[in-house]
Amino acid sequence: MSKESAELHINFSVIQDNISYLKTNISDHTNFLSVIKANAYGHELEEFVSRLNDFTDGFAVVRLDEAMKIRKISNKPILLMQGVYQQNEIDQVIEHNLMTVLHTHEQINLYKDIQSKTKIWIKFNTGMNRLGFQMSEADQIQSFINDQNVLMTHLASSDDPSDPSNQKQMSKFQDLYESFSTKSERSILNSSGVINFPSHAYDWVRCGIGLYGGVSGVSELKTAVTFKSKIISINKIKKGDAVGYGGRIRAKQDMSIAVVYCGYADGFPQSALDGTSVRINDKEAKMFGRVSMDLITIDITHLNDVKFGDWVEFWSPQHSINKFADYNKLISYELMTRIDQRVRRVIYEN
Ligand SMILES: *Cc1c(COP(=O)(O)O)cnc(C)c1O
Repeated sequence: MSKESAELHINFSVIQDNISYLKTNISDHTNFLSVIKANAYGHELEEFVSRLNDFTDGFAVVRLDEAMKIRKISNKPILLMQGVYQQNEIDQVIEHNLMTVLHTHEQINLYKDIQSKTKIWIKFNTGMNRLGFQMSEADQIQSFINDQNVLMTHLASSDDPSDPSNQKQMSKFQDLYESFSTKSERSILNSSGVINFPSHAYDWVRCGIGLYGGVSGVSELKTAVTFKSKIISINKIKKGDAVGYGGRIRAKQDMSIAVVYCGYADGFPQSALDGTSVRINDKEAKMFGRVSMDLITIDITHLNDVKFGDWVEFWSPQHSINKFADYNKLISYELMTRIDQRVRRVIYEN
């Protein structure tokens, strides 16, 4: 059993289809950046770039080491979405021809020297109150506003089109843009933005979660991985018996329980609730009992043909990660990025 492991099968043709679908929302002259920070949301950054380089106009990451990995295999534009903070990093930005974000005063001096050497994205805070200059500080970055550079902002609630904050943020951004006499390029939208506000796509969009199928309610976008592990025991329990730590749940009838070789140390959320839906041999089954460090328990009472060694799919192209996330009040972003390195990665070849 020593080689046994939960597996994460990554299907890049699903990601390619998701990119195509997202692109149908925007025009040809909008540049499409694939956001592949955090190891491509757990989908293996270098595999992503080498397979999908031709289907995107560029890449966006957060860390310099991620950008350098991409640069080794691609000569497309690469954006550092949280900028850099030190002179040696600025040198790397120029040496590797990276685009970088300017979002705070402390970066202004550092960025002055590279103004003519690369595209700088100037980030404004239009209401999310996380990164970006305040609208009242526009005069401080005046010298960076030109047609080579990009004005950007980030929406706090683009996944909820009825939230009035979206219109507020977009109209602030419009006011800002109009206040400068020299025009720069513009970028607002992430994945949900591209789906819900495509008329604001402008010059660049920055799509992450949609590539991987993590946007709830959009059936065209499919989960790009199969996260699964094997059954290593099947137990018969009696009515009234409890399962797992704390005896969280008790059998209301005689039951069959499958024990699966995966737990929270693999990145499976410990908070997953009883009733969370999984798939075994193309049929649905439900979690029964608390998640342990290395084990999960599933109710298979209604499935007669399930046996030792069968695979249990937690999420897959056929069983959306959003179903798992929504039921457990978790977000697909976190589910994707917390899968542990000990889970065996398999690139699905079709
Ligand atoms: C992560 C990130 C994105 C991508 O957002 P998704 O919701 O994953 O599409 C876009 N812009 C910024 C600034 C980000 O940090």
